[in-house]
Amino acid sequence: MIYDVIIVGSGSVGAAAGCYATINNLNVLMIDAHHPPHHHGSHHGKTRLIRYAYAEGDQYLPLLQRSKVLWEALEKTTGTSLLTPCGVLSLAPVDSPLIPTLIECAKTWSVDVEPLSASEIMQRWATFVVPENYHGVLDKNAGYLYSEKAVEQWIRLAQEQGCAQLFNCSVNEISHYDDLYRVSTADGEYTARKIIVTAGSWVKKLHPNIPISPVRKVMTWFQSDGRFSQHANFPAFTAQLTDGSQYYGFPAEDDQLKVARHDGGQPLNDAAECLPFGQYPTDGSECFSFLKQFLPGQSACLYGLACSYDNSPDGHFIIDYLDNDKTGLIISGLSGHGFKCAPALGEIASQFALGNEVDTVIEPFRLKRFEKNC
Ligand SMILES: Cc1cc2nc3c(=O)[nH]c(=O)nc-3n(C[C@H](O)[C@H](O)[C@H](O)COP(=O)(O)OP(=O)(O)OC[C@H]3O[C@@H](n4cnc5c(N)ncnc54)[C@H](O)[C@@H]3O)c2cc1C
Repeated sequence: MIYDVIIVGSGSVGAAAGCYATINNLNVLMIDAHHPPHHHGSHHGKTRLIRYAYAEGDQYLPLLQRSKVLWEALEKTTGTSLLTPCGVLSLAPVDSPLIPTLIECAKTWSVDVEPLSASEIMQRWATFVVPENYHGVLDKNAGYLYSEKAVEQWIRLAQEQGCAQLFNCSVNEISHYDDLYRVSTADGEYTARKIIVTAGSWVKKLHPNIPISPVRKVMTWFQSDGRFSQHANFPAFTAQLTDGSQYYGFPAEDDQLKVARHDGGQPLNDAAECLPFGQYPTDGSECFSFLKQFLPGQSACLYGLACSYDNSPDGHFIIDYLDNDKTGLIISGLSGHGFKCAPALGEIASQFALGNEVDTVIEPFRLKRFEKNC
């Protein structure tokens, strides 16, 4: 049997791609080394932020705006609550370019934001202690996503639409000859006219030349209370400290406040090196300096999880063809900020599989940007 497309890695982007390609009547085989959602990639830990004023660059705005539409559609189709628009408050020192960049982005792309001084922030949320030399901006429609639930829904929808799914089965090798892709797994060989590689942090096992550096990251949950919950209008947040470190967090659920650090982490060579939470002495304490300064009153770290970022050299996504004949597509290097865009990326992958033009949309993310620096 020859599939129209095989998806190698069916986590966040691969699950979305498999779902959209199947809905578009393609004959799809989704493969994953585990059974998504799972705890061996980048999509676990319950939640992910979604922001629409984006300092990472204008190239993301079409992806973000399309993703918002697709997230809402996925909620409607599945009858599942996936997106909580609680607002995201970003905080940074007044001499950092971050807040002006977010405000500028919001102006250009009509994103609903509210700039706030340190005292305005503390008046609105008495739980925040914000130094005088700080300011912020509230991205009003931003919020958070239930990441594992979303992956689960894409997998279920794809399966219901007739997608073939091969899980708990690693792909060992991909070869391309006679106009076909051959995918070797422990379970045998599978063949397709097109291939989409969305293997996240572990893509280098299949494509060693893709410039990805996997990094172990931890998320921590702190004992909290109702003042930090969404019922008390407490927002999701990001914060840049004066030493450049970056933190983010979510309104407390069940009196547990989730906080994590975006920069740093431990470099990884493969999945086996991603040791469980608690195996590094700093795991439970890396958010202490942020919490002590901005959200005093959080006490014990209750638990945590370890996950991986697939960092590209410049922190930007990698989306490119695998071959000159444009029959293979890779989406990787999401660098710790890609979950929010998974629906748009999945849709791009499915359009590619359908044979539609995606050159324009993938152009800013192609690998040739790294060649210039050689
Ligand atoms: C702690 C943490 C916090 C984050 N916070 C945010 C946030 O707030 N907002 C946001 O937008 N993003 C965030 N991200 C980033 C986001 O979660 C990732 O960018 C996104 O999940 C990556 O999607 P992916 O499909 O590339 O990888 P994954 O979801 O990991 O999927 C890759 C899949 O490929 C499979 N695979 C790998 N190798 C093989 C193989 N050889 N054979 C078969 N299958 C294979 C894996 O099993 C996996 O299922 C965060 C990430 C982490 C780790």
